[in-house]
Amino acid sequence: MTGAATVLIGGERLPVEATLPVHDPSTGEPFATIARGGPGEVDAAVQAARAAFDRDWRHRTARDRARLLRALAERLRADAEQLAALETRDTGKPLGQARTDVEVAAQLLDFSADTVQALHGEVIPATVPDVTVMAQREPHGVTAHITPWNYPLPMVARTAGPALATGNCCVVKPAEDASLTTLRLAEIALEVGFPPGALNVVPGLGGEAGAALAAHPNIDHLSFTGSVRTGKLVARAAAENAVPVALELGGKSPNLVFADADLERAVPAIVSSILAHAGQTCSAGSRLLVERAVYDRVVDEVRERFAAVRIGPGADDADLGPLINARQRDSVAAAVAAAAGDARVVTGGRVPAGLERGYFYEPTLLDRVTPDAPIAQEEVFGPVLVALPFDDAREAIAVANGTAYGLVTGVWTRDLDRALWLAREAQSGTVYVNLFGGGPEMPFGGVRQSGHGREKGFEALRAFTRVKTVAVRAAGQEG
Ligand code: ADP
Repeated sequence: MTGAATVLIGGERLPVEATLPVHDPSTGEPFATIARGGPGEVDAAVQAARAAFDRDWRHRTARDRARLLRALAERLRADAEQLAALETRDTGKPLGQARTDVEVAAQLLDFSADTVQALHGEVIPATVPDVTVMAQREPHGVTAHITPWNYPLPMVARTAGPALATGNCCVVKPAEDASLTTLRLAEIALEVGFPPGALNVVPGLGGEAGAALAAHPNIDHLSFTGSVRTGKLVARAAAENAVPVALELGGKSPNLVFADADLERAVPAIVSSILAHAGQTCSAGSRLLVERAVYDRVVDEVRERFAAVRIGPGADDADLGPLINARQRDSVAAAVAAAAGDARVVTGGRVPAGLERGYFYEPTLLDRVTPDAPIAQEEVFGPVLVALPFDDAREAIAVANGTAYGLVTGVWTRDLDRALWLAREAQSGTVYVNLFGGGPEMPFGGVRQSGHGREKGFEALRAFTRVKTVAVRAAGQEG
């Protein structure tokens, strides 16, 4: 067993008596412990963040903050192998995907650093004489970040990165299933020169450390990424303190494939959109809507690719690793079993033979379901894809929009008129045409049950600042 069970508060690693075991999802074996932080640690972290904000961080220039964010990104790249190995052990994700996570996190930090110096307010023409009106952008103060276990480093970079860039100090509550790289990132931040208290990390259970952070009366902004159910709980807690909340929740994102699409490009992208990190991605492309003329061909090509996937431990860098824990694997298996009575299981639908100790599940393709079936409506958060045929663009977009979610819509067509019409009609925060997935410059977030607020891009800098209006009357100088 390795790993010290600590919280990182005010620049110090402090031991906590209560601990939680950390399991390797590829084997089910415990290999480390993390701190089980509670209200006391959360309160200390919020105080440390407040002190760092008041005394130091808010007084720094954007250029200085950007310099530190770049240094952090560079250290992530330099330590990429160790970080990726740790992430693979903690989350089960294939090593190559963990390496990508480190690079994505570094790019997100770089993007905040590159853009924050261009963030500025406005001078507004006044309606009364001799008055200058300035809308200045200022940080919220202490920002709270409750993050999920699926992409720990990108998620912390995506929310704490722009928060720090714009002058906030952060308290992060990583997910109990995957806290190790977040703690390491915060240590590296100290090593590259971030002031103590700028970035604090309190691991622990959602119902304890998470709930305490969401309800803390001295935070100024709350970012949450996770399930719809928990998102509503934390939003309720924040509402008690009248604190602004950004929610990045789940999805049931569709890929719409038209007969004129470049299928050689579309099919591999669609497969990786659902199989990346075993489907445990909020923006996973979990519904495949295909124009009837090419339906059989596309379903067959996806089936072939699913059947060829190498499944194995994350450290072996297979194509598909395990799910995060036994509960998640069982919930995926239950969703498929419930659907299988009516649907056709084209491929998959089982725990792979010989891998029963870890939390593995086969890539699974289902069809012959109606758009309103639970498997076509509810987020499974596993390597499970549902295929549905359509006859025209109107039907396609009606089905695409016909869930409670609205995170991403993927469109595959060579017809630009049709693509732009679908982009107008799509009820989602993002529309990708002939690609699926985006860089740090693209604002990201949902509508409806997928949440609200935008991460990434310049929007993230706006989200972590608020406007202060400063109006100054200066007497005219006669003569
Ligand atoms: P999942 O059910 O897939 O683990 P959650 O939405 O519950 O997803 O978890 C996302 C994050 O929210 C994690 O960091 C988790 O610890 C935290 N969390 C869970 N329950 C609560 C809660 N009641 N209050 C605050 N945070 C919570």
